[in-house]
Amino acid sequence: MSILSRKEFHDEQAAYDYVEARVWPHGATCPKCGERERVSKMGGKSTRIGTYKCYACRKPFTVKVGTIFEASHVPMHIWLQAIYLMCASKKGISSNQLHRTLGVTLKTAWFMSHRIREAMRSGDLAPMGGGGGIVEVDETFIGNDRTKKPYGVKKGRGYAHKHKVLSLVDRSTGRAKSIVVDDVNAKTLVPILRENVAKEAQVMTDEAGQYRNLRDEFAAHSFVRHGAGEYGRGEIHTNTIEGYFSIFKRGMKGVYQHCGKEHLHRYMAEFDFRYSNRAAKKVDDNQRADIALMGIVGKRLTYETIGA
Ligand SMILES: [Zn+2]
Repeated sequence: MSILSRKEFHDEQAAYDYVEARVWPHGATCPKCGERERVSKMGGKSTRIGTYKCYACRKPFTVKVGTIFEASHVPMHIWLQAIYLMCASKKGISSNQLHRTLGVTLKTAWFMSHRIREAMRSGDLAPMGGGGGIVEVDETFIGNDRTKKPYGVKKGRGYAHKHKVLSLVDRSTGRAKSIVVDDVNAKTLVPILRENVAKEAQVMTDEAGQYRNLRDEFAAHSFVRHGAGEYGRGEIHTNTIEGYFSIFKRGMKGVYQHCGKEHLHRYMAEFDFRYSNRAAKKVDDNQRADIALMGIVGKRLTYETIGA
């Protein structure tokens, strides 16, 4: 059977059942007072699908309250289609494509995709490289940062006018985390590494000067001399993170060409999410979509907070 034939992608009640089973593993829970016992599903023809009443605080509620779906008029089964498509497309899916495939307006598609990226954003996770694991660190340059003038360099050369992204990949857990940065100086990068990498980690970078003193920060620091044509010595390499950058760059070039700096962190969260939950780690498309769905709680975004 085609995955797209599944009931929750077509039937609104089935879609609600699907989301409720994941967001409320212990049964319907009042988002205002946390009540689980004195709660009942509202019936009746004029009642909206998925409405419950809490008899403790006497308020009606649905599973959308407090999630990225709150205040959205898009039917739940369309949301589930959008989440699935974004989770199953390795290089991402453009708002334009979502607009055409889902039959929603371009503006709605754009807004939905940013909310789904928010659901993909991992919260406060443990630092990488705990227990002495290897963390690869590298930075990449992408697109065109219109807030910066290409000063003193010929058009298309140099990195001053590009967006700068610092990424970390934990080689044991396969998790990726990317941070948009203003520059790639040690003063900017080292505090970010301190915050996100465990002291006991072994850090691998290239020979760039900004990583020179990492030996003082972490249990070990090894680097590859790319300038000297070296690609690695045994365990010492940055091939994992370079592989990650290549997926990310192909996606950003092919699908998300015109990404402003104010949104770049959300696109990074999307690529980090798919990479951290990828097929090579035995996470299939359904599981990846379910993991994103669990992330919908507590991440409500409005047009104002997105900066539309
Ligand atoms: Zn209540």
